[in-house]
Amino acid sequence: MPLPIYTDLEYQSTHYNLFKDSITVPLEPVLPPDVTRYAFDTAIMQYMAIVGHEQVLQGDNLVEYIDPYELGEAEGKRKMPSAAVRPKNVEELRKVLKVSNEYNIPVWTFSIGKNLGYGGPAPRVNGSIALDLHRMNKIIEISGEYAYAVVEPGVTFTDLYDYCVKHKLKVWPSVPSLGWGSIVGNTLDRGTGFTPTATHHQHLCGVEAMLANGDLVRTGQFAVSGSPSSHLSKFTFGPSIEGLFLQSNLGIVTKLGIWLTPAPQAYMSCTFDMPDFEDVETIVDVFGPLRRDGLLPNTVYVSNLVEWLGMMGKREELWPEAGAIPEWRLKELQKQLGIGYWNAKFGLYGAKDVVQAHFNELKKIVAKKAPKGRLNGDIFSTEDGETLDPTSVPEQQGGFFVGVPSLWSLPMVKFRLPKKGGGIGAHYDYSPIIPSSGKTVLEWVKTAKKVCEAEGFDLFCDFFMHERHVIFVNMMTFDKTNIAHRQAVQIIFRNLFEEGRKRGYSKYRSHINTMDLVASLYDFNDHAYRRFIETIKDALDPNGILSPGKQGIWPKRFRQNEKLKAHL
Ligand SMILES: Cc1cc2nc3c(=O)[nH]c(=O)nc-3n(C[C@H](O)[C@H](O)[C@H](O)COP(=O)(O)OP(=O)(O)OC[C@H]3O[C@@H](n4cnc5c(N)ncnc54)[C@H](O)[C@@H]3O)c2cc1C
Repeated sequence: MPLPIYTDLEYQSTHYNLFKDSITVPLEPVLPPDVTRYAFDTAIMQYMAIVGHEQVLQGDNLVEYIDPYELGEAEGKRKMPSAAVRPKNVEELRKVLKVSNEYNIPVWTFSIGKNLGYGGPAPRVNGSIALDLHRMNKIIEISGEYAYAVVEPGVTFTDLYDYCVKHKLKVWPSVPSLGWGSIVGNTLDRGTGFTPTATHHQHLCGVEAMLANGDLVRTGQFAVSGSPSSHLSKFTFGPSIEGLFLQSNLGIVTKLGIWLTPAPQAYMSCTFDMPDFEDVETIVDVFGPLRRDGLLPNTVYVSNLVEWLGMMGKREELWPEAGAIPEWRLKELQKQLGIGYWNAKFGLYGAKDVVQAHFNELKKIVAKKAPKGRLNGDIFSTEDGETLDPTSVPEQQGGFFVGVPSLWSLPMVKFRLPKKGGGIGAHYDYSPIIPSSGKTVLEWVKTAKKVCEAEGFDLFCDFFMHERHVIFVNMMTFDKTNIAHRQAVQIIFRNLFEEGRKRGYSKYRSHINTMDLVASLYDFNDHAYRRFIETIKDALDPNGILSPGKQGIWPKRFRQNEKLKAHL
């Protein structure tokens, strides 16, 4: 068995079992495209000389380098690396890239590889080397005074949280609903958490990235040697290039500065729910303007009833028939649980009196504009001049809203597993960026519901309210061993994608198998955006070794290769 990637025993065993138990067809060895066995074996010897024998994995040891939620595995369409290489510092990384350039072997970069739902650590191009950066795991710096951290790729959200607790730093790092992923990978893929710095990529400040030729580049004030403002300011002198490394294959991020939330005096756990499907219009129209004018400074997370059910057990226990759960049964379950059809959660953070004042104002607005809804706020605070300990907030009201990491949401992927046992839990999603307008969101949920129910699936969704848009997540949890589920998920995705395309919606993030499809939406002026990025790609990575195909960006040598570009 390969060396563990987590020191936390629960994380390590959950991680290993998740991958191992997901396999339905034995792993088949594969070579990088256009590379002979002889050249590959020679390159492997060189990788081993750089990182050590035990840090180059092949054959059955690649169990942890596939997509555990792979839809096409049974049909022989699994995405598979030829080997995994795990450098521990930039010097080793540079040497690994030199070998890859010499032998034209593409690498697929990730930090921890927990991008579950989007391909996990699996490569876009079969036979790429899985370039696993989890051993580059130093916390370089944390400033309590300015509330920022600088981390290497292998630092997990849990590592950062633990470090802050251990050193009694008065900062609250943000965490997604699963704490075992990497800050770097999640931020680069525009992932989100729940605290005031939830939109991670918007709080990124100062990046170091290695280019395909081994050169190291820094961005913003981080590019000024010895600058005390490296991670304090996003100002730069000339074009901002940080964005070139987000959702990108133009470089490998080796350090990243990220802003954290200064520990507040008070936190208020707020909930708001409304009983009926159509109420989503009111929720968006009441809360949207408050996100824009700053009364609600942080993300409002809204989930539908079915997503709640997804956290409570298996669907068959709630509704044993095939087909979507009927309305009457949903109403019955809603009544039993005492929740809304739509359930919003958000936090208010800061000085106690200010938090209370925001809530009081919100109460007045809600009473006037959404009297049918139920608003609740529980405040947790400490003395003036002190900061709140996040662990003093009970998990139900705190948890990831106060930055405490866990594997809270993982059970949700088991929703569609048979009651009698067996099956393999998995999920896929379609997550469009939609204007924050009640009418528009209502129209979308009606459409999405119809699309899901036509294939016997429930509308299982949530959305994150930002100032001017919502990120709407249509989730399809499925049993990977069930062919009807796998087919339904693909049809639902295609139909939602098509409905979204008609309305001008793109996804905020994508599974490796649909990256070309999503990229095709950015078509202004005959795909000028793509041409722009490809020009940079060809200049920076002439051999096309860095994550070919990522976000639909292909290096010159693969650009016309339709077979390679084929996806599910
Ligand atoms: C039940 C469930 C709940 C989830 N909840 C959330 C949630 O609340 N919020 C959320 O955002 N996501 C969520 N996810 C999705 C996912 O699990 C997380 O986003 C996770 O943090 C991503 O994995 P990672 O951080 O290890 O990133 P990685 O897998 O390491 O990286 C993600 C991608 O970024 C790129 N990348 C990574 N490192 C580098 C680098 N050093 N240089 C260049 N490119 C790089 C790669 O393309 C990689 O594929 C959830 C998934 C599931 C199954």
